[in-house]
Amino acid sequence: MLNLENEIRKLEKNGIDMLHFDVMDGVFVNNITYGLPILESVRKVTGLTLDVHLMITDPLKYAERFAKAGADYISFHAESVSDIGETIDTIRKSGAKPALAIKPATPADIVYPYLEKLDMVLVMTVEPGFGGQSFIPETADKVRLIRQRIDELGLDIRLEVDGGINSETASIVTDAGSDVLVSGSYLFRADDMAEAARLLREGGSC
Ligand code: ZN
Repeated sequence: MLNLENEIRKLEKNGIDMLHFDVMDGVFVNNITYGLPILESVRKVTGLTLDVHLMITDPLKYAERFAKAGADYISFHAESVSDIGETIDTIRKSGAKPALAIKPATPADIVYPYLEKLDMVLVMTVEPGFGGQSFIPETADKVRLIRQRIDELGLDIRLEVDGGINSETASIVTDAGSDVLVSGSYLFRADDMAEAARLLREGGSC
């Protein structure tokens, strides 16, 4: 925990405003992490917005527990087995903000019927499951389509991208209309995290 707390302080100091939290069940994606206890510990030590990304088979079953553990946003996948509308409602009722996530191969229009009930849409820009992968350029087209739809409907919801975001790919997704960029390895490997974050915000290109 001490080490994790140090990393959180580093994020706070360097102007990062959200902490993105990947939760996997070893079924939906082939990787296992245990989310709840860590999330609770993190909630106790920071006021940062906690953005929980559930990459699990049945998010409806766990959504309330993650909300109670301190999640601000809860993203779940349209490709999961849970009923999308019901999961959105459950997250909302539990006090968190619902977000719908889609994998790179899932068409943008899956999210359209739910936009009015959502606080955020998450477009995966790599295949979910493992860190350090390269950005899939075609996913920017989906970001553009979803942003268009959000604007047409006059909604005030955020559009998040997750996977392979660095100073080069940031401008592609911000031009396409994304306003929440998830970055892990790029930020933590940077010598100057604040500068690296600034580059992402300004759409990259150093
Ligand atoms: Zn994620």
